[in-house]
Amino acid sequence: MVGGYFKASLPEVTHATRQIVVAIDLPSHRMTLERAHLTSIDAGSDMEDLRLLLIVAGLAGMLLMPLLFNAAFYRILREPFVLWHSALTLSLLMTILVSSGLSVAFFDPPAMTLSWMTTLIFGITVASGAMFTYSFIEPGLMHPVLRRLLPYCAAWAIFLATFHAAFPFVARPIQSSAYTAAFAPILAVFLFSMVDALRRGSRAAKFQAIGYSPLVLVGLTRLVSGVIPWLHNADAMLMFYIGCLCEVLFTTLGVADRFVTIKRERDRARTEADLLERLSEADPLTGLLNRRAIERQFEQLRAEGFATLAVIDLDHFKAINDANGHLVGDAVLKAVAKALQADLNILAYRFGGEEFMLLLRGEDPGIQAERRRKAIPAIVANAVAGLQRPVTASMGVAELRDDESFASLYERADKLLYEAKSAGRNQTRSAIRSMETQGGLPNECALVA
Ligand code: GH3
Ligand code: MG
Ligand code: MG
Repeated sequence: MVGGYFKASLPEVTHATRQIVVAIDLPSHRMTLERAHLTSIDAGSDMEDLRLLLIVAGLAGMLLMPLLFNAAFYRILREPFVLWHSALTLSLLMTILVSSGLSVAFFDPPAMTLSWMTTLIFGITVASGAMFTYSFIEPGLMHPVLRRLLPYCAAWAIFLATFHAAFPFVARPIQSSAYTAAFAPILAVFLFSMVDALRRGSRAAKFQAIGYSPLVLVGLTRLVSGVIPWLHNADAMLMFYIGCLCEVLFTTLGVADRFVTIKRERDRARTEADLLERLSEADPLTGLLNRRAIERQFEQLRAEGFATLAVIDLDHFKAINDANGHLVGDAVLKAVAKALQADLNILAYRFGGEEFMLLLRGEDPGIQAERRRKAIPAIVANAVAGLQRPVTASMGVAELRDDESFASLYERADKLLYEAKSAGRNQTRSAIRSMETQGGLPNECALVA
């Protein structure tokens, strides 16, 4: 009872009925004539038959899980092979429903409807199998010509199936054999692709090869027995259903495996990109963030309350380099970086050369900045021995105005720094209102060291 079957209503059967003669009108396939027989029982009405239907229904049910998996995978990785795998699974599911007794048990479609549906679904199955292989085998692990042939195979399968479903009788004596034989090139391309991908070490092909082997066996059995006239025609339906399930289960494992690989590769690429970005924003000498970082972070930092900018430039740094050498100059810069870093409310950046920058928030940011500037000589002297003079710095401090850009804030602070330099260095010029009121002194006086 496994295999295509359909119901036809009989004329009234009485005690006088001796024989029921059924003539199959225009059979399209040799198998129909060789295998056709009448049965008095309905699908699922005897134990044996019911058991088979239940097995087939169970197999069909197991095909639903991969569809759910695929939906979850596709949400994370929008890879076409996931969609083709779903198409393949769905068409195999349809194949099982239509070609087994299941559809008859539930819907009882007319024989011709069943026939063209089976044909079309077979074409879709072959086409989605080809497209799945096309998109699933890893890049570079299949000969490009074979990969390019696969979509043509898919199109050819759809064409063959549509034609055979629409005009099943146009070339009747040979049509069924010709139709079956026309799939041979597809099978050949598929087998070559698999062998080639396996030879090149494709993991995806391994999962596919194991999954497909029962189906390929069934296909070969049908092809050979369908084309060569003196062989007994075999449809191998139960083996076909198990083959479908086997195919879907193994390719699902393959998809999951591929999913893990791609995810790992993407995560690694992302980590590397993050690292590169962080490297490009970090100053290798002092470990401070650089100008690029401050420009990227500025809006975020503004939202977090950082509203005061101090621009700090070392005094006569060229002379330190000249007198002690570049290496000592570097050591001084490192020590300055250490002197500027304090707590979560003070962010230090190296803006280039011997120019640094502080972004501050919280209580008395001007005083905090001044404290950092004044810490420089002692910390540098401690860290770098043999300097002739204390290393001092000049500073300009400005407070962020509403809607002011970073560039404008920087320009104002830099102008104040320039004023501090002109006024003799080792001092601060500030434009912070709160500082002017502090101690009632003009800010220049209050903050001159
Ligand atoms: P001023 O008080 O006017 O700021 O004088 P200055 O000498 O500090 O300023 P100037 O801009 O004339 O010189 C800056 C020097 O900083 C010149 C350059 O050699 C030195 N410099 C810039 N980057 C580095 C660095 O990474 N390491 C070392 N060792 N020196 C650097
Ligand atoms: Mg300088
Ligand atoms: Mg400078």
